[in-house]
Amino acid sequence: MNLAPISVTKTTQPLKKPDANNLGFGQYFTDHMFVAKYSDAKGWYDSQILPYGPLALDPAASVLHYGQALFEGMKAFRQGNGDVALFRMDYNWNRMCQGAERLCMVAPPKELFLEGIRKLVEIDKDWIPENKGSALYIRPTLIGNEGFLGVRPSREYMFFVILSPVGAYYKSGLSPVNIWVEEDFTRACPGGLGATKAAANYASSLKAAYEAKKKDYSQVLWLDTTRTYVEEVGTMNVFFVFKNEIVTPSLEGTILAGGTRDSVIQVLKSWGKPIVERKIKLSEIREGAQSGNLVEAFGTGTAAVITPMGELAAKDWKVKINNGQMGELTTKLYQELTDIQYGFKADNLNWIEKLK
Ligand SMILES: *Cc1c(COP(=O)(O)O)cnc(C)c1O
Repeated sequence: MNLAPISVTKTTQPLKKPDANNLGFGQYFTDHMFVAKYSDAKGWYDSQILPYGPLALDPAASVLHYGQALFEGMKAFRQGNGDVALFRMDYNWNRMCQGAERLCMVAPPKELFLEGIRKLVEIDKDWIPENKGSALYIRPTLIGNEGFLGVRPSREYMFFVILSPVGAYYKSGLSPVNIWVEEDFTRACPGGLGATKAAANYASSLKAAYEAKKKDYSQVLWLDTTRTYVEEVGTMNVFFVFKNEIVTPSLEGTILAGGTRDSVIQVLKSWGKPIVERKIKLSEIREGAQSGNLVEAFGTGTAAVITPMGELAAKDWKVKINNGQMGELTTKLYQELTDIQYGFKADNLNWIEKLK
């Protein structure tokens, strides 16, 4: 596909860079953003890089009323030799396309998605923090923006990308978090949007996370609608390490197919480990933790990469995993993935694209 070149308008008032040791997550944004528009009549048009700032939207835009919104999350890393590495961008584009299909939206073509991100990261590359653990978080977003209140898919879309320099997700370093087993709220239902990165999934998850935080739990463990099987943890995929098998829930429509999940599965396979994708009963996890047959548990996602789980608590029971300590395999996986991302290990699986 031939796309019109991206026009660039640079800021005349560059922002002050934040303290690299105090970035947090998603608090700061870079000088520029990428925006492209779509209409049924024109196709994709007006691709531009602009100074970061408010978007103009018609108050009747479909995203504001009927929630046609999808996003992605990925990272650019500053490697040891100064190179800028983008991680598995194809994976994210594919996932946006699948989500767009489910939400009756029009996804940006691959070249527009990739070129928009490459060019934006290039222009704002001075914002990429250097410490290991920190990165430039990339947030591509697709919204329906036709001004029309009839209920049908929008005929106009806006695709935009913003960038946020982020520190290590957990300030105190990688240490096991406590998890609340959520038996009241569910994140996704069969036939619903759970397999997409729809903004709506986040809206539906906030209440449970907020209630768990009030009880001092950092994330919730999501169960299926029958409250029998384990699905995800917070906004991460979940893995359990038993003595004779490593398991992660199979993708059956209610689980988001994480790129980190996929990377972990591929790394485990390359190590010859017994990784199995299947349905996992909550009772298995509880009994395994009690008997000691479950030795490690962790979540996976772009933001934190790997998050060890130290304790699971439900309304009337509580179990520790590995005595609340971070496990050996969890540690090794975190090392392996971040070593590839930061260029300390060979990228044998072809996940890295260097910015030219
Ligand atoms: C984004 C997300 C993940 C993790 O996906 P990655 O591609 O690994 O970042 C897992 N679960 C949910 C619900 C998500 O939204």
